[in-house]
Amino acid sequence: MNLKNKVALVTGASAGIGKAIATKFAEHCCNLIITARRVNLIDELSKELTAKYGVRVITIENDIRNFENVKIAFDSIPDELKKIDILVNNAGLARGLSTIQDGDINDWEEMIDTNMKGLLYISRLVLPIMVAKSSGMVINISSIAGRAAYPKGNVYCATKSAVRTISEAMAIDLNGTGVRVCNIDPGMVETEFSLVRFHGDSEKAENVYKQFTPLIGEDIADIALFVATRPGHVMIQDIMVTPTDQATAMVVNRK
Ligand code: NAP
Repeated sequence: MNLKNKVALVTGASAGIGKAIATKFAEHCCNLIITARRVNLIDELSKELTAKYGVRVITIENDIRNFENVKIAFDSIPDELKKIDILVNNAGLARGLSTIQDGDINDWEEMIDTNMKGLLYISRLVLPIMVAKSSGMVINISSIAGRAAYPKGNVYCATKSAVRTISEAMAIDLNGTGVRVCNIDPGMVETEFSLVRFHGDSEKAENVYKQFTPLIGEDIADIALFVATRPGHVMIQDIMVTPTDQATAMVVNRK
């Protein structure tokens, strides 16, 4: 499948993996709807991608935790771009790293609302469009954290496990509609992820990626591009990708 003149909606495109996927899709002539809360960052990206690749990009300031906000954002998409071909459910975060008995309730709420409810809200609005045109693709960015819990990862791991189950459920419910679903589980990718997890503590965040070579956003974007460009009869359902030095969430070969 060629991405030329297709439309992809990428959530969380202001940084990291989402920004890399939006950029990769634009390189392949895909029109874009990109969303995030930091609208200045997506506006900048939009200008850059339009100038470089001549694609149409619209930006939507959106906090995916609030359904009303998501619905208003969705309704603002111009009709000619509403026929979304690819939905990349990427926006997400980890907040804090603590035992469940010491967990911060606000951190829990933020992860559950963003990673699970936000993903469901936007999917609920986009999927009927795909079903109506008997084609489309959803790429859910879950995590290796969704495959097995790791120490102090508790609620983040649970939200990503939920994303994995939602991906499975989508593939079942959408069977026969022509809409494809892919779940991607990355291991460690160097983005703003750890900075967000540690509430802006850059020293702690940098330590996460020290003494080994982590993945970068472009590595995940390459995979998303491969998934999105398979012929219509091919559905890649599930991918796990880690740095070569990472075997499981916790087994990392640091030199
Ligand atoms: P990142 O650099 O921090 O980017 C996260 C993106 O999500 C940002 O664009 C952020 O935009 C957006 N976002 C967060 N909360 C949001 C909200 N309430 N409403 C709308 N957008 C929101 O992190 P990343 O590593 O690229 O993470 C992308 C996805 O990959 C996440 O789902 C994460 O769980 C997953 N993942 C990451 C890793 C890793 O090691 N980095 C590994 C496995 C899975 P704004 O702040 O501008 O709103």
